Amino acid sequence: MLNNQGRPTQPVEVAAPHVRKTFTGHRALAMEEALIFEVGRAEVTGVDVDDAGEFTPRLGKLERTTPIDLPGLSEPETMRHYVRLSQKNYAIDLGLYPLGSCTMKHNPRLNERMARLPGFGDIHPMQPVSTVQGALELIDTLASWLTEMTGASAVAMSPKAGAHGEACGMMAIKAALEARGEGAQRRVVLVPESAHGTNPATAALIGYDVRPIPAREDGTVSVEAVQAALGPEVAALMLTNPNTCGLFEPEVVAIAQAVHAAGAFFYCDGANFNAIVGKVRPMDLGVDAMHINLHKTFSTPHGGGGPGAGPVVLSDALAPFAPVPFIRKDGQKFTLVEHTQGTQSFGRMTAFHGQMGMFVRAMSYMLSHGGDGIRQASEDAVLNANYIRVCLSDVMSAPFGDKPCMHEALFDDRWLKNTGVTTLDFAKAMIDEGYHPMTMYFPLVVHGAMLIEPTESESKASIDLFIMALRDLAFSVQKGETERFSGAPYYAPRRRLDETRAARSPVLRWTKPKPIAAANQIAAE
Ligand SMILES: *Cc1c(COP(=O)(O)O)cnc(C)c1O
Repeated sequence: MLNNQGRPTQPVEVAAPHVRKTFTGHRALAMEEALIFEVGRAEVTGVDVDDAGEFTPRLGKLERTTPIDLPGLSEPETMRHYVRLSQKNYAIDLGLYPLGSCTMKHNPRLNERMARLPGFGDIHPMQPVSTVQGALELIDTLASWLTEMTGASAVAMSPKAGAHGEACGMMAIKAALEARGEGAQRRVVLVPESAHGTNPATAALIGYDVRPIPAREDGTVSVEAVQAALGPEVAALMLTNPNTCGLFEPEVVAIAQAVHAAGAFFYCDGANFNAIVGKVRPMDLGVDAMHINLHKTFSTPHGGGGPGAGPVVLSDALAPFAPVPFIRKDGQKFTLVEHTQGTQSFGRMTAFHGQMGMFVRAMSYMLSHGGDGIRQASEDAVLNANYIRVCLSDVMSAPFGDKPCMHEALFDDRWLKNTGVTTLDFAKAMIDEGYHPMTMYFPLVVHGAMLIEPTESESKASIDLFIMALRDLAFSVQKGETERFSGAPYYAPRRRLDETRAARSPVLRWTKPKPIAAANQIAAE
């Protein structure tokens, strides 16, 4: 349907209002689906259980006096309900997911097979350690891969997300400063303006004052700006590298030296590690602590797909303060150090040992790729992002000109000026083309930012179609076809939502419609 100029041969229908409303609300294969409370009825069930018969309640006076009123469905109704809901969800298994900074790469099915092996999937964190030696060995092996790839002395495995990892790293830094007797004096954490919101939030949560570092014209942080903000009151710098503008920080080594010379620590946000795995060991750059998002770099599912995992690699200086539990190897036996007595550990971050399923998936990814494969994944991710950057450079504006990017390409909204189309409109029109929008309005240092991260797992054909779709949208902007954008998405199950109202006055409680009113409402429609 696309000719070789990347223009659809069929004109795109701009507005959809003429599309007839259907009686059912379904649109061919796009099924409308009500909430389970609306489709279910308390008297319906998919299971055949014997009547409880006579029994004496043992709840004192606490027995329920009204029906529980949970919505029941038959088995086929249950299947349809959840399958229909699942089909409303955009997913990496459905299409290209260009959400910058999120590394939405394919989750290999081999990883799922491995995570479901009974020896990994069916164990319990409170089992005696003698019965879970294999699981502990896997965590230990994964830890050694992570320290090898980063050049770190130690890694804390238990944090359960990137942001949780940030908290872990900053707590280790705080503990190290306290051990040095400087805990009270060093109250400030430096955070560049381009940082992910979790960085200042983490610093504040741990009790620090946040001092912003301005970004340079070219989107990177200068050693002078860091130096100017350093002082005896500074505990740490939190810097993302590659940064959220998709650029490798060229002065990172000098910045690390300046931070250390001022007696502070260097926390690196490693969310963008996918761009440099196998190419650079972050600890060689002078990093003291860095979280790794297994759910980004190492292909474990994220978003609606599963929990994250944010192991934190630590330098020699911070390793003694790592949280419990950690694994110790005595000869051929693995033991868990669960308590802080006799250690300098800052404490415990989670109830148990971290996200075992994610550890298995990440290890499976690493072993199936090998060191060379992981390096190639990084190279391909960077190549794909640069391909997109260059192929769109004549129609969209890039804040940092022709500078090569790492694994994500950043555009701004200068090319939309005076067109009546905003970054938000453009992103909504992408939904009509079957794409999840890119990251919008982030990083904040770039006006109307659009951050595109294709990852290495997209084929050239898939990336080419994406580029052509974006070019087609850009041509529409140039031609003044603003209706294609102003009301978008036209073809999604729901049109544009009032996101401000949803955020300011969220309706968090479902109330049962009155049967008569509901009937009238249906009749009125
Ligand atoms: C994703 C991300 C985080 C937070 O990671 P979570 O796992 O979502 O908590 C922090 N910083 C950057 C730059 C990120 O992209």
